[in-house]
Amino acid sequence: LVVLEGVQKHFGSLHVLRDINLNIDRGEVVVVIGPSGGGKSTLCRAINRLETIDEGRILFDGRPLPEEGRALARLRSDVGMVFQSFNLFAHKTIMENVTLGPIKVRGVAREDAEKRALELLDRVGIASQAQKYPAQLSGGQQQRAAIARALAMNPKMILFDEPTSALDPEMVQEVLDVMIELAQEGMTMMVVTHEMGFARRAANRVVFMADGQIVEENTPDEFFTNARTDRAKDFLSKIL
Ligand code: ATP
Ligand code: MG
Repeated sequence: LVVLEGVQKHFGSLHVLRDINLNIDRGEVVVVIGPSGGGKSTLCRAINRLETIDEGRILFDGRPLPEEGRALARLRSDVGMVFQSFNLFAHKTIMENVTLGPIKVRGVAREDAEKRALELLDRVGIASQAQKYPAQLSGGQQQRAAIARALAMNPKMILFDEPTSALDPEMVQEVLDVMIELAQEGMTMMVVTHEMGFARRAANRVVFMADGQIVEENTPDEFFTNARTDRAKDFLSKIL
């Protein structure tokens, strides 16, 4: 579904993506881990073109990423994104947050969008919160609302950038549970996270990124028990 070939990205003199080659197949769940500043967020942002790249190419669904206009808007709705900070519109209700994209971008009728939003909110366990504003919800509930909002666009893939790292510990699992369910239903996902339990349960592959490079790529079992590089071993010794 996604192909990255020889992707390079600089911020000024900083080389943040160094020759990234990565394929993500339909239905695959790829977990990206690695030290701070390694380029994980930049990689996510490059895939839905929140960030441009300097060299190489990125294909989505067999085609180069569109540069602008309607095609770019379509890409952004095909590739959902869930961030660390929940990014809900504060002055809109949860229902409005979830229906806005489908109504404005996909042209869905309000009534249909609301019906589907309720189904999605039910699926992530917060249907009863639909008429509340984000600030009235817990962090875990807000993040589940953000996932429902991404799902409302019927994405082909969802990128998660540290979706649980801003949450109080007791709320982490409720969000991971929703993500594990999505993975089991066959959603294509790229997930930047240090949650090893999630990686072991849901990931097909772990990609270890450091200094802008993919240093190591393996199944979760192999990676966590038999990391090959010193860089990965060193990282794992600090987080496990
Ligand atoms: P973290 O684990 O802390 O989230 P990361 O692996 O997601 O780190 P990135 O956010 O992709 O890393 O950042 C990679 C490098 O690029 C860092 O050194 C960062 O400071 C730098 N960087 C990121 N965004 C920009 C920007 N817009 N302008 C300049 N430098 C940036
Ligand atoms: Mg990051």
